[in-house]
Amino acid sequence: MATAGATLVNRSDGTAAMHVPFVDLKIQAVHLRGEYEAALWSVIDRAAYTMGPELEQFEGAFAAFCGCAHAIGVSSGTDALKLALIAVGVKPGDEVIVPANTFIATAEAVSHIGARPVFVDCLADSGLIDPEAIGPAMGPRTTAIVPVHLYGRPADLDAVQRAADAHGLAVVEDACQAHGATWRGRPVGSFGAAAAFSFYPGKNLGALGDGGAVTTRDDAVAASARLYRNHGQIDKYTHQVVGYCDRLHNLQAALLLAKLAHLPAWNEARRNAARDYDRRLSGIGGVEAPERADGFEEVHHLYVVSAPARDEVRAKLADAGVETGIHYPVPLHLQPAYGDSGHGAGDFPNAEHRAGRIISLPMFPEISEAQRAYVVAELERALA
Ligand SMILES: *Cc1c(COP(=O)(O)O)cnc(C)c1O
Repeated sequence: MATAGATLVNRSDGTAAMHVPFVDLKIQAVHLRGEYEAALWSVIDRAAYTMGPELEQFEGAFAAFCGCAHAIGVSSGTDALKLALIAVGVKPGDEVIVPANTFIATAEAVSHIGARPVFVDCLADSGLIDPEAIGPAMGPRTTAIVPVHLYGRPADLDAVQRAADAHGLAVVEDACQAHGATWRGRPVGSFGAAAAFSFYPGKNLGALGDGGAVTTRDDAVAASARLYRNHGQIDKYTHQVVGYCDRLHNLQAALLLAKLAHLPAWNEARRNAARDYDRRLSGIGGVEAPERADGFEEVHHLYVVSAPARDEVRAKLADAGVETGIHYPVPLHLQPAYGDSGHGAGDFPNAEHRAGRIISLPMFPEISEAQRAYVVAELERALA
């Protein structure tokens, strides 16, 4: 695989530094130019912009990739979550259990259908949903739970399913960061009653714009997601339910189909990059690399470390040309949008503690060894 070339920038003291972007989306565009052109023109020449054969082909290929009978292409990951929740039977007034430390879309999708997200804490070391927290968060109106496979690592699907079964809840996986990750050898997206994927450009499989998919093994859930995706239409001029305009564009489906063939190699490149970061970070005091464990395979959407004085460390890295991120700096129960959650500071200590310490290092399939070595060397300097 081609890797990124070095670009130089200046530090504030005038000395030269290497620029390491957080994500580099331009490299893939250079390599896939021919495939992109073929996909674009095949759609444009036929003016087949919605619900065409490319969408069906992509849905078939993505379903197979996820080990599912069905994939339904939709307009975004957020809408995939919303349609998945509707399709598994979540109704207005229901409560849905959601981790406090996730992208806001996980909770927004619940709110969009008139249900209420009920936040729970994460595990201190992995940041994944704490299965022990699910039982105590249950109430008479709880009907579903959304484990998030954060950073490309599967949540504990055995424990989540046990908790769900004990209380009769539907599991809807938020797999928006985890295309191709496996849990006990089986792809995520094939475990819950349904799952949601995002094809936002920076995700492991990204469209050239917004996109998403619902996956499911269940024929009835698939039929319902398809119905709501396209105006509740069962045939032309017959609308069974009040639905949405949430289709995945045919152009995006054609581009995604071309990109899907490269996804296994891109995920493998991310794994190599993560192993290399793990090794380089193992000798450095003051920083915690992600913990590793057995029983699953990650796809490293993000490479997240913890460090004290996080903001200072990030500022020093930025001065050295290294772009970083924070995923996520404010847990959802402390967001203004969820000021009515009934929770405040101190309620989810693991999520809150992590939020003040985490740094996402540059991670993309084409990140070069020289870039990784530079990132870690500068991180060590920043910590010193
Ligand atoms: C990206 C993301 C979403 C939302 O996907 P969009 O395509 O941006 O709507 C939902 N949940 C998680 C965890 C995500 O990372």
